[in-house]
Amino acid sequence: MIDFKEIPNGEIWELFARDFLVQLGFFIESSPDRGADAGKDMLISEELTGALGRYRLRWLVSCKHNAVSGKSVNEDDEKNILDRVKSFDAQGFIGFYSTLPSSALNSRLKQLRDGGKIKDYRIFDHKLIEDYLIQIGFSILLMRYLPQSYRVIKPLHLVNPEYVPLECRRCGKDLLETLYQEQYLGLIGFVESERDDYSKPRVIEDVYWACKDGCDELISDHYLQTEGKLTGWEDIGDIAIPAFFLEFIFRIMKDIRNESCVFTDNAYGQLKEFLVAISQKVLRETTPLEKERIGKLMDFDFL
Ligand SMILES: [Zn+2]
Repeated sequence: MIDFKEIPNGEIWELFARDFLVQLGFFIESSPDRGADAGKDMLISEELTGALGRYRLRWLVSCKHNAVSGKSVNEDDEKNILDRVKSFDAQGFIGFYSTLPSSALNSRLKQLRDGGKIKDYRIFDHKLIEDYLIQIGFSILLMRYLPQSYRVIKPLHLVNPEYVPLECRRCGKDLLETLYQEQYLGLIGFVESERDDYSKPRVIEDVYWACKDGCDELISDHYLQTEGKLTGWEDIGDIAIPAFFLEFIFRIMKDIRNESCVFTDNAYGQLKEFLVAISQKVLRETTPLEKERIGKLMDFDFL
């Protein structure tokens, strides 16, 4: 999904690594500045809480940007790991790679850790970095360093101060995240009580969201069998398309305006929650200036 070849060279890759690790909560002790010492590693630390208090773990970060050649990072690319870690008084090693580590390099690092020479190691390879970048909180980074991929991925943006997941009512899977794998795995269901008099408005008693295969069937069957209620549905993948998102809202407004449809309090609350969640996919990133403006004008209780 993400094409790391968009990052033009190793220096930008190092800056990207720095900003990425800051977003993950690491503290940068020395930036990847390339003055006299070209190819310098980066030093970062994190505060960990142990049984007896807090302590700081210092990591040496080695950034390798091989995305263009597609070559894995091997032992020759990472010479003298132990010396480098020790000389910076670090305890751990992090490889930040736009490809993969070779299996020999992996074994070497495992050997160093298992032999107690280093405390731990971590490899951020292209797949793991990608997994992070599609998560909430990383969209600004994606927009800055990988603008083409940003357009393809359409990452989630916070609208509320907190992320609002769209969890399947039955299995709990976050349906917003499934939109990255496949557009049409989830649906929104509208539960309607049966009407004997068709001159009266439809009453929507519940609104829920669920996986299309399996989960929804159980929920809608339950409503039909035990309460005699019918369920209508729409694809969440369609509502995530900006024009359909608006059409969806306008259609509901129209039904309410011409009194052909009534939402119970429960259904209305559920519908609002759905709109907040899906808008994290449809709307754009809020700029820092806009965030300041929001802060001055209102709180988020209306959501
Ligand atoms: Zn499910």
